[in-house]
Amino acid sequence: MTETLLQVRDLKKHFPITGGVLGKKVGDVKAVDGLTFDVKKGETLGLVGESGCGKSTTGRLLLRLLDPSEGSVLFENKEITSLSKEELRRLRREMQMVFQDPYASLNPRHTVEKILEEPLIVHGIGNKTERKKRVQEILEVVGLSSYHAKRYPHQFSGGQRQRIGIARALMTKPKLIIADEPVSALDVSIQSQVLNLLEDLQNEFGLTYIFIAHDLGVVRHISDRVGVMYLGRIVELTTSEKLYAKPLHPYTEVLLSAVPVPDPEMRKEAALLEGEIPSPSNPPKGCAFHTRCHACMDICKQTRPELKEVEEGHFVACHLFN
Ligand code: SF4
Repeated sequence: MTETLLQVRDLKKHFPITGGVLGKKVGDVKAVDGLTFDVKKGETLGLVGESGCGKSTTGRLLLRLLDPSEGSVLFENKEITSLSKEELRRLRREMQMVFQDPYASLNPRHTVEKILEEPLIVHGIGNKTERKKRVQEILEVVGLSSYHAKRYPHQFSGGQRQRIGIARALMTKPKLIIADEPVSALDVSIQSQVLNLLEDLQNEFGLTYIFIAHDLGVVRHISDRVGVMYLGRIVELTTSEKLYAKPLHPYTEVLLSAVPVPDPEMRKEAALLEGEIPSPSNPPKGCAFHTRCHACMDICKQTRPELKEVEEGHFVACHLFN
């Protein structure tokens, strides 16, 4: 059986809202409101949802770039929510992040060599010669050349900059990479090159990915399993195959109907999502999706559906399947 790398249990992040002259707490933005899932070694879990669903906050909580309000995150059976700063610094070597906007995340005043060397210096890995050698190796791994080491971020195209972002994440030989919308800022033609690179690297180094995206089309081919998020919670979680062939949650159905299909025969009428995503500071009572759901029943307005396994390996939070 494949080993579990990450176990997330009832993870929450509530940001307090303050008001009045005394700055008293008047409410909470429930950015992440009770996530439970596992990630197996070597798999890619896609996390998908509209902007404001809490997927990027989730990525930051898993790396403990943010402290959770409640819940547990076990990485290789070690609880990371209670680690000291020093323990966390050591663990970060194993868990890295690739960001959406490679330009904003690369220091424009540093050469690629300096950018790539930095994680090794932070973690005290290798001497100067060894670090330079690793920079050369990694540039080749991500499809760049050794002469690129002396250049600055502005001298590269968007796709090349994302390759540098991926190279930086790989420098410490991590086990887990959280990629937060890594191809959203790129042209469609470049997106597939970067996705292919991520897949090749996974096969070569046995990496585990959490791939965050707002579009189900992007995560389809790279993800083994996909979790669909709505207002800080997972509403459906299953294998890519099952999710795309037979989505069960009404929200997933709507998201999927918006994904372009190459074969016109297979094309379905795109269902439009009614209204805006409600504010996470004031989520609807009961099922958070009930204000936009075509199948809403009385119970949906009163009782929140829990995420349940309705078929083997297929979890859904919806009263239609209770
Ligand atoms: Fe729609 Fe009710 Fe299911 Fe929510 S619980 S998705 S409102 S049918």
